[in-house]
Amino acid sequence: MPRFTAAEERLVEGARQFAAEALAPRAEEWERRAVVPDAELHRAAAKAGLTLLMNDPPYGPGRVRFPVVGRVGEVLSEACMPFALLVLAHNYVAWALRDAPSDAIREKYLPGMFAGELSGVFCLTEPQGGSDAQQIRTTARKVDGGWVLDGEKAWIMQAAAADFYGVYAQTEPGSGGRGMAMFAVDRDAPGVESFTFDVFAGRAFGMGGFRLDGVRVADDALLVPPGEGLRSALGAIDVARATVAAMCCGLLRRGIEEAVAYTQERHAFGQTIADFQGIQWMMADAATDLEAARGLADRSLEALEAKEQGSVLAAHAKKFASRVALARLGDCMQVMGANGAKSETVSSRHLGYAKLAQYLDGANEIQNVVISRDLFRPRGAP
Ligand SMILES: Cc1cc2nc3c(=O)[nH]c(=O)nc-3n(C[C@H](O)[C@H](O)[C@H](O)COP(=O)(O)OP(=O)(O)OC[C@H]3O[C@@H](n4cnc5c(N)ncnc54)[C@H](O)[C@@H]3O)c2cc1C
Repeated sequence: MPRFTAAEERLVEGARQFAAEALAPRAEEWERRAVVPDAELHRAAAKAGLTLLMNDPPYGPGRVRFPVVGRVGEVLSEACMPFALLVLAHNYVAWALRDAPSDAIREKYLPGMFAGELSGVFCLTEPQGGSDAQQIRTTARKVDGGWVLDGEKAWIMQAAAADFYGVYAQTEPGSGGRGMAMFAVDRDAPGVESFTFDVFAGRAFGMGGFRLDGVRVADDALLVPPGEGLRSALGAIDVARATVAAMCCGLLRRGIEEAVAYTQERHAFGQTIADFQGIQWMMADAATDLEAARGLADRSLEALEAKEQGSVLAAHAKKFASRVALARLGDCMQVMGANGAKSETVSSRHLGYAKLAQYLDGANEIQNVVISRDLFRPRGAP
């Protein structure tokens, strides 16, 4: 397990406390009512030190190491994965802002993001597909003093609630990655129309999208210049994948805790359900998978921090953790009998999130593309 400094431990402990007090008591209601966590909660998260985790002064407190970011995601996810994902995505957007060509854009967003007053999300996926990032159809046309954006984004979390979007757009249609750039677009800018999707689970993610109809932004709104958009998208995605793996571990841990506690209370055939060895072994197998997933998530985050082959490990970690979380949360529901199927159980809610984690930040098949590319690379190639 990674060793954390005292300051890192304090940050994780603060996140755990925030999750227990501010998230856990309300997570089930948010999911049932499809309520997206509110502005007050963002401010509370900022007070707990969870915003701008990866930004150095003057805009942030100092970059936190990736394994610590993963652990924060894990403990928040134990209580509420939609909010965990929102907080981490917010941090990745702030991280991207660090390298924006203009100081004005940093001044516009980063202080508000640090204080939890402003929230931003990355917007790459489009209605016709998300896996093949180079084929995005949203365009950005250069005009005097700015850019005009047209297109549509889909499967964006908190699409109707985020204050601004980091929108990937094509500045040279047909040029693939060469023309990709990223722009900051305010949700309430003229020509932006957001919408939400009705989903089978994960309603608190606020999944949706928005249309951009001749949306004009200033030159300052350029976050990533043309030609660097694809590299920037792929650079952040490895860390995002590794932290999704950590979040899946949080989902599964709480599911196992709930299921074990239930079986110790429930009786059948004159004993508790937990006294049946078949039940114990089902939970023992879940615990083994959790340990393995956690080890892989931690290892991938350490490798990314050390800049050592992190991409492939992150792909392994995200694929494995989301796979075992989905399978084992099903087992957690199973040992609770029909009561496990009630929507108020942690396991049923977390099972829906684990399914969505299989698409998030690149579907699991795309993780296999990354792994296979490494596995089958020509001998002697780096
Ligand atoms: C909870 C959640 C939050 C999300 N948040 C965001 C967000 O904030 N911003 C954002 O931009 N996107 C977001 N997404 C979208 C996510 O990144 C996409 O769903 C993902 O990239 C896959 O794209 P797609 O769903 O369009 O599938 P498609 O690209 O249409 O793929 C369909 C299927 O084909 C498979 N496939 C594609 N290519 C290959 C291949 N080469 N080999 C084998 N199989 C292949 C895929 O794995 C998938 O199973 C979110 C998704 C979820 C579920």
